[in-house]
This record gives sequence, structure tokens and C-alpha cells, in this order.
Amino acid sequence: MTDQTLKNAASGVLSLEAYSPGMPIEELQRRLGVSNAIKLASNENPLGPSAKVRAALAASVAQDNLALYPDGSGHRLKKKIAALHDIALDRITLGNGSNDIIELLGRVFLGPDRAALYSAHAFAVYEIITQAQCARAVVVPARSASDAQPYGHDLAGFAQALQANADVALVFIANPNNPTGTVLAPQDIEAFLKKVPPQVIVALDEAYYEYMDPALRGDTRAWLDRYPNLIVFRTFSKAYGLAGLRVGYSLSSVALADVLNRVRQPFNNNSMALLAAEVALDDQDYVQRSVELNTRERARLSEALRGMGLTVLPSQANFLAIGFGRDAKPVHQGLLEQGVIVRPIASYQLPHYLRVSIGTEAENDRFLAALRKVLAA
Ligand SMILES: *Cc1c(COP(=O)(O)O)cnc(C)c1O
Repeated sequence: MTDQTLKNAASGVLSLEAYSPGMPIEELQRRLGVSNAIKLASNENPLGPSAKVRAALAASVAQDNLALYPDGSGHRLKKKIAALHDIALDRITLGNGSNDIIELLGRVFLGPDRAALYSAHAFAVYEIITQAQCARAVVVPARSASDAQPYGHDLAGFAQALQANADVALVFIANPNNPTGTVLAPQDIEAFLKKVPPQVIVALDEAYYEYMDPALRGDTRAWLDRYPNLIVFRTFSKAYGLAGLRVGYSLSSVALADVLNRVRQPFNNNSMALLAAEVALDDQDYVQRSVELNTRERARLSEALRGMGLTVLPSQANFLAIGFGRDAKPVHQGLLEQGVIVRPIASYQLPHYLRVSIGTEAENDRFLAALRKVLAA
């Protein structure tokens, strides 16, 4: 019986709800028989990896390196990351996606006698790792719907909650946040960092950093030298177009990188992923083009949606949270039937909203046409 076999499973895991990812295109085709579907559900780069990355991967397969274990230290990639950020190699941790970094942090810093602190409507993985580690969650209420950053993080609330909960070991900040797309002012982040006791780790998730207006970005690199309890992470899954290969990395103090390294799987990045990330990092023109497409289309899509009377949260990322003023489930279903996969965010306590990734111009047009049809029905 399942009941008996799971008797010794961690209590946090037993009460856990698994992460629900955006639906793969194949699954929609299987379920509804819709062909020609497009996926705007997981915030991938609609241009995919750059031509240089594709060529490097093809050449590597031809050389047949795959029987050997990858470089477990990721030395070549780390050297490029070190140069990009002007940081020492031993302050970099590579992850199998930045999800892996979140997981490593949880394993090191969370347990039954500890708490993690994060915002309502924040990235779901923070909650999953907290619960999996049987740690307590301190969820800080978000800003109001009418705030300039609707449903965004409230760092004054974070600071208060930190004072009231001495067991907090780890604070997660997503900037921009997923699924709201909201951002924090750099001076507010730094003011918060000043208030955090040194034994509390602040994990600053910058998965969408490249998509932010440069004027709104904080100098996270400088903060790392000022606040040894800060760890910042980035990913190759979004602007670099490598979501399928799973590479992310963090920058931190040497001490923090050292403890993460102790629990890291010895070969957590596969050799194709390491190679692709190295080549992608060198192709900043491609990132720039991807970001420009996103900025242009994000503005166009936002305007069109607002013109349809819908609520669009201000986004500095590569997706929009769109409010329908009613349960968004039927809209989601209608879009699926039109072959357009978007992301319901009811599990983020935003049941009236759908999250839609910014696609290519053609994909966005297709989404708008499908949405008009669904709303007219
Ligand atoms: C997409 C995303 C990540 C990145 O996940 P990977 O594991 O690097 O693919 C991290 N944080 C947030 C908030 C995200 O939305």
C-alpha cells in the first residue's frame, strides 16, 4: 500500500504540490488534436539559440565527445562568466538551470528549524524548496493591485517580517518577479540589504535581468562586495535562448560558493550545455537583438491588450500578466483550442490573470487574433 511505503517520506514533501510547467506543444497536440500550436507559456526566447550556438553544438556532436564526463568544475564557462562580471572564479557556482542554485541554497540553509522569506505571488520554486526542506515559509503580502508595481514585492514588509521572524535563514527576491513582471528600485534593494543581519542569506533572482530597462537595473555586482550574505543568480534559459539545456549560475562570496559546491552534483551541467553557454556568452549581439525584439513587442502587445480593455501589469521581463477581471480559466481553455498555449497563474493566487510570454511578431499576432476570438465568443 502506498500509505505504508510513504510513511517515512519527509512531511514537507507529502504536503507538496509539484511545480506545474507550461504545457509542451506536443501535449496540446495529443490532448486536443490541435496542430500548429504555439507556446507562449514558459518565457523562452522565441528566437531560440543563436546560429553560433547551434553550429558549435552540431560540431561537438560530430566530434563524439559525449562518452566522457563533462568538466565538473565548468572551468571554461566560469572563466567567461568571471570576465563578464569582473569577479573571481571561486565566487561562481554553476547550476543545472538557476533552479538548481535555488535547490542548493535550500539544501544548505533550510530545514525544520528554519524559515524562508519571500513575497506573495513570487516564483513558485521558492515555495517548493522551502516545503521540501520542511522549513517554514514567511510569505510577505505583496503590494496592492493599484500600486505602481501591482502585486510586486514590498521590501518594507520584508524588513518588518525579518524582524518578527528570527528563524529566517534565506530571503528570496525575484527582480523582475515572475509571474508579475514587476521590479524593485535599486535603492530600495540596497536599503533592504543594509537591514539584513549577516547570517541571513539574500538570494536575488535575476532570471530576467537582460530584459530590464538599463536605467532600472541595480549594480548587483557592486553589492556583492558590500554584502557578503548576498547571492545573485542569472540564467541562460531566458535571453540566451538555452532553456532546453539547463544552465544557470550564481555570484556570491567565496564562502557561500564553497558550501553550495559541497552539495552540488559533481556533474550538474552536461557537456553540451557548458559548451552552448560558453558560445552564447560570447554572442552578446544576439542577446541584444533578442532583448530589442522583446522590448518592441512587449510595448506593442501591452498597448493592443489595453486597447481591448484588459489589465496589463507593467512588465520589465519577457512576459505579460494579463488581467481579465474574472476567472481566466475559460480564456485559457479557449486559447488552447485555438492552438495557443499560455500560462494560468491561479496557483500564484492570481486566478483572474494569464501569463503570456512575448513571442515573435507573428506569434504575438496569432495570440492577439486568438484572444479576440475567444473573448468575442
Ligand atoms: C525562469 C526563471 C528562472 C530560471 O530557471 P532556470 O532553471 O534557469 O531555467 C529562475 N527564476 C525565475 C523567477 C524564473 O522565472
